Amino acid sequence: MAALPTPRACVAAIPPYVPGRTPAPRPGLTTYKLSSNENPYPPLPGVLEAARTAAEQLNRYPDMGCTALYEELSRRFGLPVERFAAATGSVALIYQLLQAFCDPGDEVVHAWRSFEAYPIALTAAAATGVPVPVTPAGEHDLDAMVAAVGDRTKVLLLCTPNNPTGPALTDTQVRRVLAGVPSHVLVVVDEAYVEFVRMADPVDGFALLRDFANVVLLRTFSKAYGLANLRVGYAASTVEIAGALRAVSLPFGVSGIAQAAAIASLEAEDALLERVEALVLERGRVLDGLRDSGWEIPDAQGNFVWFDLPDAGGDRTTVFAAAAEKAGIVVRPFPGEGVRVSIGEPEANDRLLDLAARLFRSTS
Ligand SMILES: *Cc1c(COP(=O)(O)O)cnc(C)c1O
Repeated sequence: MAALPTPRACVAAIPPYVPGRTPAPRPGLTTYKLSSNENPYPPLPGVLEAARTAAEQLNRYPDMGCTALYEELSRRFGLPVERFAAATGSVALIYQLLQAFCDPGDEVVHAWRSFEAYPIALTAAAATGVPVPVTPAGEHDLDAMVAAVGDRTKVLLLCTPNNPTGPALTDTQVRRVLAGVPSHVLVVVDEAYVEFVRMADPVDGFALLRDFANVVLLRTFSKAYGLANLRVGYAASTVEIAGALRAVSLPFGVSGIAQAAAIASLEAEDALLERVEALVLERGRVLDGLRDSGWEIPDAQGNFVWFDLPDAGGDRTTVFAAAAEKAGIVVRPFPGEGVRVSIGEPEANDRLLDLAARLFRSTS
C-alpha cells in the first residue's frame, strides 16, 4: 500500500485543550459560565464603537504591523515600539516563542498544575516539558524549578498569578529566579491576570525588562479587558526577542477589529480599573465565604478560585462539577486534581458560596 502523509511524531503526543464548557439553557433559571476566567462585564465604553468602525473595513487586510496598537503600548509603558509583539491572544505568543527558541528536544521548565496551553504548545514545538509540581499551597516551587534547569533548557515559564491554582509570585521571587538561571535561558513571565493582583511586593514586569535581557512579559486583553472573543495579546521584551516573535507570527493574525478594540480598551483605563476593583472585591467576598464554610482555598490573585480536590479516581471533582451544574453554574473541573471557578456576576458568586457550603457539610 502506498505510504500516506504522516504528521511529525510530536503531533500525536499533543494533549487536548479542554475548553471551559458553556452552560446549557435551563428554562426558568439564569445560568452562569464560570469555567473560562472570562470577564462578566460587556466591552468597556467606546470599545464596541471602535470595533464597529473597524468592521467597515472587513474587505481589507488588517495593518500587519499593528502600528497604532504598538504606539499606544509604547506611550503607556515608555518602551520603544520595537520591544512589543502582538498576536492572537497570549496563547499564540507562547506558541511563537517556543517555535522561535526551541529545537526538538530542548527543554522547557514550567510549574504543574499550571496553564494547560503550556504542555500543548511545547509538545507542538517538539520540545520536552519539564513540569515541576506546585506546592500544596498551589505555589510555584521556585527552588525546584531553578534546579530543573539543565544544559538543554531554553525556556522557563512562570505563570503569575498561576492559573488554575491562584497564588502570584513576588518581585523578589522572580528576581531570585532570574539571578539563579543562566542568561541564555528565556524567562517568560505570563501575566495574564496581572490587573487583579493585590499583594505586597508584586512583580514589576517592566522594571524586570530594564534589568534583564532574557525576560519576556506576556499580557492579554482576554481577561481584565474582557476581549476574549477577539483574540489579542502582546509580549514585551528586548528588540531581539520581540523581533523573533514577530518573525514567526502568522501574517495578518490580529484582526483590525481586535487592534481597534484593544486600543480603545487601553484608553478606557478608568472604567477598566473600576471593573477590576469590583471583581477584586467580589473575589475577597467569595474567599471569605468559602473559608468561613471550612474550605481551604489557596491565595487567589487572579479572577478565579481553586478548590484542591486530589483524588486518584477523579470523583470529588466530578461530584463538585455536577452539583454546580445543578445550581446553574458551570465550573472547570480538572479530574482528580481540583476545580477552578471564575469570579463572575454577584448572583453567580452567591450560588457558588451556597453550593460550596452545602458540599463542605456533606463531605466533611
Ligand atoms: C487566559 C490565559 C492566557 C491568555 O489567553 P489569550 O486569550 O490567548 O490571550 C495566557 N496565560 C494564562 C495563564 C491564561 O490563563
